[in-house]
Amino acid sequence: MGYQTILVERRGAVELVTMNRPEVRNAQNTQLLTELDEALHIADADPEVNVIVIAGAGPSFSSGHDLKAYVGEAPSDEWHEKRKTPEGKFEHERKMYFEKSLAIRDLDKPTIAMVQGKCIAGGLMVACMCDLIVAADDAVFQNPVLRMTGAGVEVLVELALGPRKAKEFLWTGDEIDAAEAHRLGLVNRVVPKDALEQETMALAERIAKVPPVTVRNTKRSINHAQDLAGFRNALEYHFMVHQFQHNTKTSLDALAERTKKGSMKEVFRDRDADFDR
Ligand code: ZN
Repeated sequence: MGYQTILVERRGAVELVTMNRPEVRNAQNTQLLTELDEALHIADADPEVNVIVIAGAGPSFSSGHDLKAYVGEAPSDEWHEKRKTPEGKFEHERKMYFEKSLAIRDLDKPTIAMVQGKCIAGGLMVACMCDLIVAADDAVFQNPVLRMTGAGVEVLVELALGPRKAKEFLWTGDEIDAAEAHRLGLVNRVVPKDALEQETMALAERIAKVPPVTVRNTKRSINHAQDLAGFRNALEYHFMVHQFQHNTKTSLDALAERTKKGSMKEVFRDRDADFDR
């Protein structure tokens, strides 16, 4: 398919889609999000695929959205240019972040996120939209965007933690390790790092043996029950609050300061300086 930022591999009835920018911990730029979305929809439409696994190449699942263009460390693109106005930023985050995340949740086929190392912010969005998460014992989950004046990521994935833990997770920006993620129900299972791929594929193969129509109808039914309980509306509401938060004076001033920095490393260092325990 000529992808540059992902790898796609068919293993029996399982499609393994791997984010493949390990040199930047699979930071999600426009190209990666576009290719991932395309590959997932092709797999979803392919009658020979029963289960889709989403992985990240290298030591980490994903460090989140690629922010390098903000400080001139990466070339700008059409979407990045659009972000210069509030309405452009809204459109960018709606189309590329919010809708592409929900599109993962809405795939007909069951999805499993295979998570090792860091799973941060936008990485968490991809993982949480999957039906199941298998984590390596070195996996850590974090969403430090409140330290940068954000209101959480575009899709409020912290709902998966329950309200008390979600607030703590957001307000502290601290990491949750694999064992705690399991205790909280954020992930289905934790396995030794060396066995992550083997265990995830074994689970995928087991699910692939269930009649596909049965799995899909179960998924549809459980997701629908969640939506009737307000899940989807809560995400919509959060997205609007998130957009408002972007355009508060606090956020705009902080953004103006950030764009004067030389690198994202410097941005992150300054961001975390006051919070590191
Ligand atoms: Zn945003």
